Amino acid sequence: MKVLVPVKRVVDAYVTPRVKADGSGVETENVKMSLNPFCEIALEEAIRLREKGIASEVLAVSVGEVKVEEVLRTALAVGADRAVRIEAPRQTEPLTLAKLLKSLVKKEEVGLALLGKQAIDGDNNQTGQMLAALLGWGQATSVSKLEIEDGKAQATREIDSGLQVRAMVLPAVLTVDLRLNEPRYASLPNIMKARKIPIEVLTPESLGVEVVERVKTLSVVEPAKRESGTFVESATDLVAKLKAVKVL
Ligand code: AMP
Repeated sequence: MKVLVPVKRVVDAYVTPRVKADGSGVETENVKMSLNPFCEIALEEAIRLREKGIASEVLAVSVGEVKVEEVLRTALAVGADRAVRIEAPRQTEPLTLAKLLKSLVKKEEVGLALLGKQAIDGDNNQTGQMLAALLGWGQATSVSKLEIEDGKAQATREIDSGLQVRAMVLPAVLTVDLRLNEPRYASLPNIMKARKIPIEVLTPESLGVEVVERVKTLSVVEPAKRESGTFVESATDLVAKLKAVKVL
């Protein structure tokens, strides 16, 4: 079974994002960029499935400009077998992404698509769901435990009221949550080796997908600054203060 792992290059999780002066988005020039943390977890799970003999190949794909090849190199260094970049000039919206991924799934005869539950830049949390709908495949989102046996997947999801376990036949689309696993680091020799592995480049046209923008970002603004807190002398003092601001 071939496993497809879509990976996104995003502003590093430890960097405080800065809004561009013209309010058109978040600054990405001269900012540390990394593999989206949820994609790292999806990749780790795919590699573990290959190590267990359940997956035959792990194919990493990223949609974007040539810069996104950085995260594909990371994916190769960590253990992906192959990497594909789908050419796209800018941020691609989830529906277009899902169409591109669907076409790749068909072309590559993928048996399982493992995605991050969300990309930490846009926080869309949509691509996996749209891909499953377009393919007509079963899906489970925010997976925190996964078992695959005899062509069936059992996925545990963390939901507000507890844990939900969903079973489905493969092929399927799964999106992963933080607690699924702890991703491994790439070793230096593997980072060096990954630099030499060719990355296949595909265009939306070659995949039969027209890139249409349906969503327009009108403006991006910084969140309101939080006011600094004050210390209270006693519980009585706290109650008086809360009453003054009509919280009690
Ligand atoms: P989103 O729906 O944007 O929150 O992203 C959810 C998941 O879709 C990510 O964790 C990735 O697995 C995948 N994804 C989103 N954008 C891209 C991209 N440009 N290239 C490849 N995969 C992506």
